[in-house]
Amino acid sequence: MSGVIKLLPDHVANQIAAGEVIQRPASVVKELLENSIDAGSKKIQLIIKDAGKTLIQVIDNGSGMDASDALMCFERHATSKIQNADDLFNIGTKGFRGEALASIAAIAHIELKSKQEENELGAKIIMEGSIVKSNEPCACPNGTSIEVKNLFYNVPARRKFLKSNAVETKHIIEEFQRVAFVHPSIEFTFVHNDQEIFNLEKGNFRKRIVDIMGKSYNERLVPIEEDTDIIKVSGFICKPEYARKSRGEQYFFVNNRFIKNHYFHHAISNAFNELISTDSHPGYFIQLQVDPSEVDINIHPTKTEVKFQEESAIYAILKASTRKSLNKFSIAPTLDFDQETSFNAPRATGTVSAPEIKVDKNFNPFREEKDWERGASFQSPNGNWEKLFKEDQNPADFSDFLEQVHFEKDHEQEQIDAENEFPFIIQFGSNYILTSRNHELMIIDQRKAHERVLYEFLIEAQAFDQRKSQQLLFPETIELTAQGTVILEEILPELNKMGFDIAPFGPNTFTINGTPSDLAEIDVKDTLEHLVEQFQLHEKSFKEKKEQSLAKNMATKIAVRSGQKLQKEEMEHLVKELFACDQPYKSPSGKNIIFAIQKEDLIKYFS
Ligand code: ADP
Ligand code: MG
Repeated sequence: MSGVIKLLPDHVANQIAAGEVIQRPASVVKELLENSIDAGSKKIQLIIKDAGKTLIQVIDNGSGMDASDALMCFERHATSKIQNADDLFNIGTKGFRGEALASIAAIAHIELKSKQEENELGAKIIMEGSIVKSNEPCACPNGTSIEVKNLFYNVPARRKFLKSNAVETKHIIEEFQRVAFVHPSIEFTFVHNDQEIFNLEKGNFRKRIVDIMGKSYNERLVPIEEDTDIIKVSGFICKPEYARKSRGEQYFFVNNRFIKNHYFHHAISNAFNELISTDSHPGYFIQLQVDPSEVDINIHPTKTEVKFQEESAIYAILKASTRKSLNKFSIAPTLDFDQETSFNAPRATGTVSAPEIKVDKNFNPFREEKDWERGASFQSPNGNWEKLFKEDQNPADFSDFLEQVHFEKDHEQEQIDAENEFPFIIQFGSNYILTSRNHELMIIDQRKAHERVLYEFLIEAQAFDQRKSQQLLFPETIELTAQGTVILEEILPELNKMGFDIAPFGPNTFTINGTPSDLAEIDVKDTLEHLVEQFQLHEKSFKEKKEQSLAKNMATKIAVRSGQKLQKEEMEHLVKELFACDQPYKSPSGKNIIFAIQKEDLIKYFS
């Protein structure tokens, strides 16, 4: 058989190429923003609808294109950025492959308007799946506006595999930030579904970081600076006390391009060494400038890994300069760096603080008296569970309180009932409750038990009507990153059903007006930050049922700690609540809660 090989038509070839360059809306955002930067723009506007699935538009005030280039730019390998192979070793622009626009045009509807300053009129081009539908002169501002609509409209498999709007938006924000961080002299705006997410005025790198990450970053940042023949290092590291358990604030940029590099990350972490716990990561925003010929920039457009020739030298430079700025700003005890020969004893400094012991100043051991008098059940989720959440509460306060409370008759009755139900109940090793039930000897993990109880309570709270919320006397505000904002918005309806009263309040800010009255004493800001972080960390939580993962995360966050001393009544109550649960034997994360020994087994063992 002959003649079976055929050249693919251009639009098919483009569509295949598109699969590599454009994986999701965020890839389009990256390519368009980079083109605008390459065109020398001073102001770039990003407009998104429905996480980019409906519209991605970038408007810039850069060089613009004339009528013929405006058509030409959609051809594959059409680029103004390199002319011959030698240019590849000296790339100063973001793009050079000339395939982004061709790829995007193959899988979306496009409207391009572009005008150069010296021309009276600009060009307007409409494309659908690589086919030019219209091409005419138009009156438009200098610069370029590209609208990309209905992405993947002709690649249903791709479209189907896009994630939820929250996840895709998160990716877009990430790409936007990566670009915006290192171009502080360019003004950026970002509007999503008619809501302004960023409005970044021009300034320096520090201002840009603070504008993107939030005001609190101003005091977190410590400059880092090193100029060597191989590499120029500049930017900021975050003070050790702001290290996070989750990754996400680690930014390396090489020649103004975001990269990931585990090896270099290790260099920084290593320099932080004993200043942070082993399971947390230092934050940093570090720019590396190298001679373009020293890095292999000829990488795939979607890849963020870059190869360096002098990798180990750069590692050493990064570690030393991090160490140096930690020392210079008296953050680190003076160790190896400048002082290697003098063997100074490590100097303790004020900036590294000892673990804090939190004391709840508002705790009033008599406050619950009314509940006792009313005969409210002891610390049920409908009563005063919050006592158990207060890991920082001094247990002594509580036993004093118990001694002082005068038990009324009906409470005494309750007490007697409880005693019958639990012939004995004791705490063992500050972590376990030993008791017996139905002729079984049981060892119960107190923390996991509490997680289960809270979990079922929170699930139920969401399933039924709006829980009662207790209004805060002084509403608190919480400021989040843009990603955090998207996530919190996503889970807001569920939280409010649980009895929180949280409302958006300006860009990236929310007010907390109330908390579930049953959980009145939790540290609500801390809990929300934790939830957002968890959702951010585990994207799959979005896929899992939202309510369940919310309840799970919140339960694990606020459950009574291992190691916390519990009073007899607290234990009894916890165990009762546990056995009222649908699934008393497994914690929400699937761990065992109870170790039970049957009486027969004991008999066997001793016979
Ligand atoms: P590359 O960026 O790799 O050259 P692209 O497909 O992204 O390839 O763009 C093709 C060409 O279109 C660019 O080389 C540039 O000349 C032109 N172009 C794209 N976007 C813009 C823009 N916003 N302003 C001016 N010219 C642009
Ligand atoms: Mg490009």
